Amino acid sequence: MKKIGVLTSGGDAPGMNAAIRAVVRKAIYHGMEVYAVKNGFQGLIDGSIEKMDIGSVGDIIQRGGTILRSARCDEFKTDEGQNKGIEQLKKYEIEGLIVIGGDGSFRGAQKLTEKGYPCIGVPGTIDNDIAGTDFTIGFDTALNTIIEAIDKIRDTATSHERTYVIEVMGRDAGDLALWSGLADGAESILVPEKADDFQEVIERLKRGHERGKKHSIIILAEGVGSGLTYGERIQEATKLETRVTVLGHIQRGGSPTASDRVLASRLGAKAIDLLLRGEAGRMVGIQNNKLVDRDILDVLSEQHQLNSEMYQLSKELSI
Ligand code: ADP
Repeated sequence: MKKIGVLTSGGDAPGMNAAIRAVVRKAIYHGMEVYAVKNGFQGLIDGSIEKMDIGSVGDIIQRGGTILRSARCDEFKTDEGQNKGIEQLKKYEIEGLIVIGGDGSFRGAQKLTEKGYPCIGVPGTIDNDIAGTDFTIGFDTALNTIIEAIDKIRDTATSHERTYVIEVMGRDAGDLALWSGLADGAESILVPEKADDFQEVIERLKRGHERGKKHSIIILAEGVGSGLTYGERIQEATKLETRVTVLGHIQRGGSPTASDRVLASRLGAKAIDLLLRGEAGRMVGIQNNKLVDRDILDVLSEQHQLNSEMYQLSKELSI
């Protein structure tokens, strides 16, 4: 394989740039030519493709977002859209493609693979909601952003003796809520994977208040429901002053943590190894600190599992 492409697709995540850098540098190290496909699959259809060199990825390892930009592209879900993309790949004689993104992006990568264009997926999403890898690129940075925000909110919560409901990202996966809740000693953590026992949350708040606790923090993943509605229900049931903060897109941005930079570099480089070995339709991941690769179809058919032991621990530590 002599010419390959790289694109980022779906929601952006801090560390994507470090992954792009690793892909480009490792490919060039192995004597390949690398082409950037801008704006995800939309750019593939439009032919927004340009050659990269070692310098194209200089000074980006520390930057959030993605220099290749990202887009959602419904047209690519159709046969016609995919064929248009393939036309562009043929035009540039690109023989393999690295797709950095979430599971939606991997579906696009799988379609291309089925049509004869080998693709390798690199998991980049802050949600950590992909099966077959312990961590996705961007999760650690988002987690640390949440912790920083909660620490600040906690100061106000203590000063005013308030209950705070903090809504964090995670439509289908509660990892950001669980990890940030454990890291910040939250009273209750509400995740989409586990049934929410409202009465238990209320009892815990009341116990804490009676014990003289100055503040309480409840973390709620967005997939569970609206933080605002939840906050109203809490205030009604406990009669304690309750405020709600929806952290929103602040969780997506920022300079990637060291962990995310290292993970992205390792996964990006591993993706090139797979293409060089003639592999296709696989996702690179990390399990028990070892690089692994899995069939994308398996990854898409499985669900990422919430760590039940950690979930149980969070309950035991906030009695
Ligand atoms: P993420 O990759 O973060 O999960 P999305 O689910 O929005 O983000 O998917 C990103 C893009 O991947 C979509 O806009 C679309 O271009 C492509 N995609 C998603 N699902 C499919 C599919 N079934 N077939 C082909 N392409 C898809």
